[in-house]
Amino acid sequence: MLDITKIRANFPILHQQVNGKPLVYFDNAATSQKPQLVIDSISNYYKTINANIHRGVHTLSQLATNAYEEARKKIQINFNAKYAHEIIFTRGTTESINLISSGFSQLLNKGDEVIISYLEHHSNIVPWQLVCEKSGAVLKVIPINEKGELLMEAFDKLLSDKTKLVAVNHISNTLGTINPVKEIIAKAHQVGAVVLIDGAQAAPHLKVDVQDLDCDFYCVSAHKMYGPTGIGFLYGKEAQLNKIPPYHGGGEMIKTVTFEKTTYAELPHKFEAGTPNIAGGIAFGTAIDYINSIGVENIAQQERSLLVYGTEKLLEIPGLRIYGTSSKKASVISFNIEGIHPYDIGSIIDKLGIAVRTGHHCTQPIMDFYKIPGTVRASFAFYNTKEEIDAMVLAVKKAKQMLS
Ligand SMILES: *Cc1c(COP(=O)(O)O)cnc(C)c1O
Repeated sequence: MLDITKIRANFPILHQQVNGKPLVYFDNAATSQKPQLVIDSISNYYKTINANIHRGVHTLSQLATNAYEEARKKIQINFNAKYAHEIIFTRGTTESINLISSGFSQLLNKGDEVIISYLEHHSNIVPWQLVCEKSGAVLKVIPINEKGELLMEAFDKLLSDKTKLVAVNHISNTLGTINPVKEIIAKAHQVGAVVLIDGAQAAPHLKVDVQDLDCDFYCVSAHKMYGPTGIGFLYGKEAQLNKIPPYHGGGEMIKTVTFEKTTYAELPHKFEAGTPNIAGGIAFGTAIDYINSIGVENIAQQERSLLVYGTEKLLEIPGLRIYGTSSKKASVISFNIEGIHPYDIGSIIDKLGIAVRTGHHCTQPIMDFYKIPGTVRASFAFYNTKEEIDAMVLAVKKAKQMLS
């Protein structure tokens, strides 16, 4: 068992009062908090080795380059990519998806098909709509059942030799459903389609092995893994990345430039135009070290017990319904109370120090499916406690009393 008191001591932000009450932070699916090690990693970079990378021969530039490349290596090892150059630094999941979708606008033809799912975050819907508009390809959507699980038989029917790409998330940010991505990838490969996995929610909760999954692309944001905002990565199989044209043009991504013709740098630099978020990349590496020092298994176990306890306690409140009831679920609880708008619950419990998210969570199709305007979403990290869940349940009961 983890010593949660010791772990919480690593996160300075957790020890404060909000609206005069101890902060209970249950918005981890939106962004997680940062341990002191990660905060130090950012300031140490600026205090000691700040310089632009890959350019100067001078010592600081070499130190900064080494630290940045070491972070790439940590990501490669942690996610078990075959090569470090298959890890492309981006601003996060959204940019990683857009990098691939904009490349595919040149690779798709009229009548080709792209499959996504009902569970997608808007950032894994809108880029594909844009690409389909440009290329004349058709967007297909895997439906879900009442529990919030993908209907795999319907997926089988959608697949055909027209399918060029399948893009689904590993874990739903709204319902917590853990999707059978390995099966999806294998089936898509049988018809010759490539597969992109939105791993924004899986990376903080599971051990992800991209070679075992056999996905073609995998997208992650550091800020949901206890790292900084504005940094993340795209993993791509070397052969697949080589097929994708450059995303942004500029410095760092070229081999030679003349006005007649420019040739591009090798992977990963081909996709890394301009000065990147150097401090962010290095601190992302520190966040991965931190996670591994705790142990992903230990993290998953603690979150699992919070999910079970939170589900049980919330369901004791009459009129409360939980959305997303798959048996394969991450530590996310989306709920509503009959007759009360989720926003009103969120506002009242915020006054009691409880931070949850309310609204559609960038997944409007899921809200349409359940015919609701939004939900209250409590999402737990391993630094949360059962006592905090008790505080939330008490606050929700109070809100219910006030509003009904
Ligand atoms: C957060 C999230 C995104 C978007 O990530 P950004 O860090 O905002 O780019 C995409 N998909 C899922 C499932 C998410 O949870």
